[in-house]
Amino acid sequence: MPAKSYKSLQPKKSLGQNFLTDPWWIQRIVSAIGLDHDERVLEIGPGKGVLTEPLLSHANQVFAVEIDSRMVGHLEERFADAPNLRILHEDFLKLDLAGQIGPGPLRIVGNLPYHVTSGIIGAVLDAIRRNHEGAEDGPRITGFDIMIQKEVGQRICSPHGNKVYGVLSVLANLLCDVRIALDVPPKAFSPPPKVQSSILHFHPLPAMRYPLADWDLFRAIVRCAFNQRRKMLRNSLAGSASPLRDGELEHIGSDLLERRPESLSPREFAELSNRIHGGRGE
Ligand code: SAM
Repeated sequence: MPAKSYKSLQPKKSLGQNFLTDPWWIQRIVSAIGLDHDERVLEIGPGKGVLTEPLLSHANQVFAVEIDSRMVGHLEERFADAPNLRILHEDFLKLDLAGQIGPGPLRIVGNLPYHVTSGIIGAVLDAIRRNHEGAEDGPRITGFDIMIQKEVGQRICSPHGNKVYGVLSVLANLLCDVRIALDVPPKAFSPPPKVQSSILHFHPLPAMRYPLADWDLFRAIVRCAFNQRRKMLRNSLAGSASPLRDGELEHIGSDLLERRPESLSPREFAELSNRIHGGRGE
């Protein structure tokens, strides 16, 4: 694409467009992601394609999912000769992974707008959970690397007992090993974000860390508990937004209910959820 139109792709704040521009950092990020040549990779939010280009030379096939039509037009021209790239003009949150990508191993990577981070992590965790439950129609997620606000990354990796421990820390722990793979400073981007960033690496476990009778119930309990994180679970789960049925709590004699959510380990959340599920006799 001619230099002039490349430059005219002005960042849209509403789409969280902080582009990676520093070649040294781009190379470090690609090494931290660590791809194999036989892998399929889905990149969420490729933007102008600065990460897409090295991904294409490190992976067997790349799917680039981009919401902004200006970027899609640019990518189509820039990578017109790349046989191993498929550009999908889509919102990742609405993407039909099974229909568009199909079965087989898949790595997911993305430098994403920070305001959609939680939704996108939730969607990828959901795909991993479906893998654990044996769904065969969609791809099998073998790794997920996402650029994230550093503090959010620390929160997700946090163990229980910590005040930043929350919903995503619990859900991610059930499904994956999670670690911060690389810290990335604002100067690596243009425009530079106001916050420090990190690449967070999710490595899906072969099976859920603890057996769960009902993932939806478990997730709803965790969300409800952390919505009122200063309350004991017995009180937050008795509220109007509770996923529990009328009177259900009265039959659960568990000390776990007398604690605040940040003190419960992921295993204890799983235990409580299984107990409530067991009480339903379904
Ligand atoms: N990966 C590029 C880079 O590192 O320079 C662009 C990063 S920019 C922070 C995020 C990109 O994600 C933008 O191109 C934006 O249009 C795109 N995007 C935002 N929301 C999206 C969504 N829901 N689905 C797909 N792409 C999205």
